[in-house]
Amino acid sequence: MSRYLVTITPPTPNGDLHLGHMAGPFLAADVFAKVRKMLGDEVVLLSYADDYQSYMARKGEESGEHWLDLSRDNTRKIEKTMLAMGIDADHFMHSGENGFFIGRVQQHLNALAEKGVIKRVEGAVPYDQELEKYGYEAFARGTCPECGYSTDPSQCENCACYPDAGLMANLHSPITKKPLEVVKMTRLAVDMRALSGVLKDHYIKHPARRQLGAFIDQHVFSGYDQMWPIERTGDAGIPVEFEGADILVSTWFSGLAGYEAALTEYWARKMRPAQAERFWREGDAKVAHFLGFDCSYSHALIYPAIASLVHENPPEIYHYTNAFLKLDNEDFSTSRNYAIWAGEFVAEHGVDAVRFFLAIKAPEEVPENFSLKEFLAWKDEYLRIGKSLLSVNTAGVSLSLSLAEAFARWRSVVDKSGFSMRSYASFIWDLFASFSQSSDELERQEKAALIAMLSGPLLPDLSKQMASEYLASLYGRLLAGATAPLTAEALAECEAF
Ligand SMILES: [Zn+2]
Repeated sequence: MSRYLVTITPPTPNGDLHLGHMAGPFLAADVFAKVRKMLGDEVVLLSYADDYQSYMARKGEESGEHWLDLSRDNTRKIEKTMLAMGIDADHFMHSGENGFFIGRVQQHLNALAEKGVIKRVEGAVPYDQELEKYGYEAFARGTCPECGYSTDPSQCENCACYPDAGLMANLHSPITKKPLEVVKMTRLAVDMRALSGVLKDHYIKHPARRQLGAFIDQHVFSGYDQMWPIERTGDAGIPVEFEGADILVSTWFSGLAGYEAALTEYWARKMRPAQAERFWREGDAKVAHFLGFDCSYSHALIYPAIASLVHENPPEIYHYTNAFLKLDNEDFSTSRNYAIWAGEFVAEHGVDAVRFFLAIKAPEEVPENFSLKEFLAWKDEYLRIGKSLLSVNTAGVSLSLSLAEAFARWRSVVDKSGFSMRSYASFIWDLFASFSQSSDELERQEKAALIAMLSGPLLPDLSKQMASEYLASLYGRLLAGATAPLTAEALAECEAF
């Protein structure tokens, strides 16, 4: 048994969640957490509202409401939508004015300062004379000097780099649309060169997979030595102290602190506060971060480094990134209200159908497109097969080599190092298709039994309806025998349990 902390990148609570959020980290993290529980691991799935994000300050100014009131309203909607989607987060922290959170950010800043990683550096910051705003995030946009994509100056929304505002072309205010000037400012920054050793050690032990691999090669193994400013003078940020002065630090610096604080708050509410520190102390912990690729700078460079510097026995850290889902080939947008809202959609179409289709379409490597027409055609087929699955009697299915082989294939697509929700969904959809196409009764029973036993993390309703004590015991025997090689002897071993 392993102990896992599974995290979903904190949503900005400036609106509800749409299908794009779901097809990204939300659903994948939930499916992963449910799979690990099914394999016998101890798992806590959590996230929190990113209340100190500069976009909340902007939304508050635009609407005339206090940013914290806005956040609380939207956080309630977000939690309700997660529940409706079958996403069983163990805890969803409200980070605004939360002592656990602010204390943890302070602790991380102090630890990095003690190790000599925090420096004061002069750098370029966009400034809006008209609105009297600094443009770290929500109040400036421009062209990324690395990839040429339009982004705010915090983390490039396309290539995930930290763009130096002094090198960004076309800097302008997203509010007035007018050009912005750049001022020089001295701020606290993380010296990335000082982190290079711990990051190299980390990625040699746990090589990054998929699209993150190239990013890690560029930022860890190619002599990268940027200074990454973390202070947010004159904008939103987490209030902490540094050398006796009150300062604000960026929400991007504070994500690991947020996950740690959420774990602390989770165990505190369960009246077992020591459990949270035990998780970080005992050296057998695993952390699985689910994130949009655009959040890679903080999650893949800063957080593993902080974890190595603040914890005596740092956890094994895994990253699962995603690209964007598009809606009829255009970007989803909360601010332009161009979206399909997840709560309304799932109320109309049912949890399983929405989860299954989004998992099949998950933009794990490259952007994918959602089309309502395609979904509706697929849903008809899914409902037809689902109905016929419920009429199958699976009580006579016995352990066979084909069952053990299918179980081993399932294990390989859900394995922690190569986990892919998309491959898992394809695996289950292939079982649906072969069940539907087969006219052999025994084969149909076996496929139905596999769907009932292995689809639970993806299709909570259908698997519950198909469940039986007999199938639970069959699954137990498959799981117990799964460590042995797949031979006739292994099968005999499965039978022995
Ligand atoms: Zn870029």
